[in-house]
Amino acid sequence: MINDKNSQGIVDIIAEYARKQSLFIMAYGTGCGAIEIPPTLTSRYDAERLGIRGAATPRQADVLLITGYLATKSLKRVIRVYEQMQAPKYVIGFGSCTINGGMYWDSYNTINLLDKYIPVDVYINGCMPRPEAVIAGFEKLKELIQSGNALGWKKYEDNLEEYRENQKKVIVNWQMPDYNW
Ligand code: SF4
Repeated sequence: MINDKNSQGIVDIIAEYARKQSLFIMAYGTGCGAIEIPPTLTSRYDAERLGIRGAATPRQADVLLITGYLATKSLKRVIRVYEQMQAPKYVIGFGSCTINGGMYWDSYNTINLLDKYIPVDVYINGCMPRPEAVIAGFEKLKELIQSGNALGWKKYEDNLEEYRENQKKVIVNWQMPDYNW
């Protein structure tokens, strides 16, 4: 497992090269930005030519794509999906709403900064980001994977208590299994 780009040996470099070329995504269509996913994945932009395609279940997915604002009710499901994915796993926050709440910044039932609740490897800004921006975000993620620096999943494991505290502040009826890392 790669924790530091300086520690990458030839096997790590080859493994990361293979990993970045095959990114199965779990697109969690929480916000209106989700409407840009179909053109990104279908014939117009054809993201599969770049190794990006949909996954059927969280356990088969490498990338969790959060496409916009996230209601506190949805956050609970997103956390469960994220924790069902196998490491190494990556998160892309898609749209201004994942960065600062966007137009919902002072809403009573949405979160403002996704990274407080699950670790975000790449943000794609815009309201809503076009498919070109989505593809650019994936290319950035690929760079991070190749260099051994897409380590949000490790940050989550190492700081689970801190994440749990933030999660419990907004999820009032918390009834979720605590995972034993
Ligand atoms: S960033 Fe804009 S397009 Fe995306 S979910 Fe928020 S309001 Fe909708």
